[in-house]
Amino acid sequence: MTSFPEAARVELANVQLRTNLRNATDTIRAKRAKVVDELPDWEELRDAGKAIKTDVLAHLDEYLLQFESAVEAAGGHVHWARDAAEANAAVATVARAHGVDEVVKVKSLTTDEIGLNAALAEAGIHALETDFAELILQLDGDWSSHILVPAIHRNRSEIRDLFARTIAPGIESDDPRDLAEAARVYLRERFLAARVGVSGANFGIAETGTVCVVESEGNGRMCTTLPPVLVTVLGIEKLLPRFSDLEVFLQLLPRSATGERMNPYTSLWTGVSDGDGPEEFHVVLLDNGRTRVLRDEVGRQALHCIRCSACLNVCPVYSRTGGHAYGSVYPGPIGAILVPQLLGIENAASLPFASSLCGACYEVCPVKIDIPKVLLHLRAKAVEAKASATERTSMRTVAWLFGGPRRLAAAQRLGRAGQRPFVRGGVIRRLPGPLAKWTGTRDLKPVAAESFRSWWRRERR
Ligand code: SF4
Repeated sequence: MTSFPEAARVELANVQLRTNLRNATDTIRAKRAKVVDELPDWEELRDAGKAIKTDVLAHLDEYLLQFESAVEAAGGHVHWARDAAEANAAVATVARAHGVDEVVKVKSLTTDEIGLNAALAEAGIHALETDFAELILQLDGDWSSHILVPAIHRNRSEIRDLFARTIAPGIESDDPRDLAEAARVYLRERFLAARVGVSGANFGIAETGTVCVVESEGNGRMCTTLPPVLVTVLGIEKLLPRFSDLEVFLQLLPRSATGERMNPYTSLWTGVSDGDGPEEFHVVLLDNGRTRVLRDEVGRQALHCIRCSACLNVCPVYSRTGGHAYGSVYPGPIGAILVPQLLGIENAASLPFASSLCGACYEVCPVKIDIPKVLLHLRAKAVEAKASATERTSMRTVAWLFGGPRRLAAAQRLGRAGQRPFVRGGVIRRLPGPLAKWTGTRDLKPVAAESFRSWWRRERR
């Protein structure tokens, strides 16, 4: 991955991007604040959401097996995938078994995470994105920069030009209604012809084997009901124990995400039913690093995330750099804590530093993920991972010196003697050798002429 500072430098030069981001995030933020204020029990809902997610992670092994049994009892098939390759292979196998060369897809971050479209393309199968923004990105070979509004970095005249070159030759209007109509006409035939649909999911219910997808456009419902075969890729952390838990999350999610009281489309299905929806249903349960995240007692709360994107919309860093600077399908504050854990800190070490630690993300998170705390935890890991042997030895020595009063007093005496040539006007402005990096950007206070302990001894005996 390109490091965040390098990638951000490029994105910051894009004035259009910053204008688009500001307009979009300001609007969503205001809508969210309004609908959240309507609920007198919002804090209790957040507590409930957090408690349910904590319970899920504590008993994930049991809930996964319960979910598997419930799906199979309802006529579905369950596939277990340790990583992206296994998940992609499971989807490709189902598509190949039905002899299709195209599947229709619901917008899904999980399938983006595993690179499903590219993997299917290698198998000779085209994955057609049917969400309006995802379709735009697919037609232009671009990729998402926001969890919920993937094409937030594009404006409507760019989209009109793209459609004129691809799916709607001759289109002149950049009115959003005309652009949506062009996409609708293009997609409708493909929905009707599709024999395999692919989706992610917002929630899976362990108790009943039900899968839930929420969306705004209705394309998701087309994908999950029209094709006779449906494959859902579900991250293992997306489970909820009981059907009644949806009562909490279907209030938290739309309000935090699009600032709506309810999503326009909430689709729920349980296995297969005669004469209603797909005749064949597969669910791929995806790990892909999640069990590694689960092992970290501080970092595991990142798995509570319900992908609402509220943390992106309030983040002062995201609002200036946009999503591409994060180099992942999970941008913003959640990306900064999730990606380094999924990929290993050595592969995304700069991301936990992509934050001012202002805490705005924590305040809006509907499941109370303490993002600043996890960021600090991961920063410590990143520093630890790249510290040189000299740095490590120095830190250990400092810890030893600070660990005993006599040792500290001796170090202070030595420091007082050693610092004399460098103190000018009561501060140290320049140190020699490797220590020069420290004074390159800040002045250093010299060791005090007398320590507090010695003053205390002298004054109070
Ligand atoms: S971390 Fe919280 S605020 Fe951010 S996307 Fe996830 S649930 Fe939403």
